[in-house]
Amino acid sequence: MATDRVVLVTGGNRGIGRAIAERFVSEGYRVAVTARSGDGPMGTLTVRADVTDAAAVDAAFREVEAALGPVEIVVANAGITKDTLLMRMSEEDFDSVVATNLGGAFRVVKRASKGMLRARWGRVILISSVVGLLGSAGQVNYAASKSGLVGFARSLTRELGGRGITANVVAPGFIETDMTAELPEETQAEYKRSIPAGRFATPDEVAGVVTWLASEDAAYISGAVIPVDGGLGMGH
Ligand code: NDP
Repeated sequence: MATDRVVLVTGGNRGIGRAIAERFVSEGYRVAVTARSGDGPMGTLTVRADVTDAAAVDAAFREVEAALGPVEIVVANAGITKDTLLMRMSEEDFDSVVATNLGGAFRVVKRASKGMLRARWGRVILISSVVGLLGSAGQVNYAASKSGLVGFARSLTRELGGRGITANVVAPGFIETDMTAELPEETQAEYKRSIPAGRFATPDEVAGVVTWLASEDAAYISGAVIPVDGGLGMGH
């Protein structure tokens, strides 16, 4: 069903966020992306925002609201890694990852919820990771931030579920983006051996699940964790 609802995707200038923005555009949505650098794909409105800065997030929302109207679907996608073993992990390594991945989602979703409550309709989609529930050596900060999103979505579902608002988590496995390109080739090969599908996914394979969660077909799905991981995390 065609729709022209307003979507905001954080970190829509590259990787998974960019693919999500492209999918929404192709399905007829009015799409804005936040970017710290670069621009979103063709057909999107790009606004500048660092998700660790609440004032910048608020300014970005004002710009989107003025140009497109209230945000009805928000995709908290912006994320970073700072991998190292716990013994070597600095306070800064921990805090910056949590402030971006979990705190960023908090700032963006809190700001979006105002308009959604007024409209009594909304879709909150949080991009987590398979490692949020599986765990991963060297990623205490990242995994903690990503599993935090599950408690976030489920609490939000209990707060706002009666107002036509759903909140879900998408948990990708290994996706071909800059984030995984940083991994050494041997590590990539090792991961591929452990994934039942035997391969990494394309960003578009995540994007299709996100647009489906935003659709009317997914109106009764909330507080769910949807894996897009080729079977890597089975048992979540
Ligand atoms: P990329 O590294 O390719 O892109 C990350 C995006 O997040 C960029 O747009 C980046 O903006 C943005 N970003 C980072 N920090 C901030 C910030 N403080 N404020 C605003 N934007 C910020 O990552 P992916 O596309 O691979 O990952 C997207 C999401 O998917 C992340 O949350 C990641 O954890 C998750 N994920 C990725 C997986 C993978 O295999 N790739 C697997 C599972 C989950 P800029 O260009 O300005 O740096």
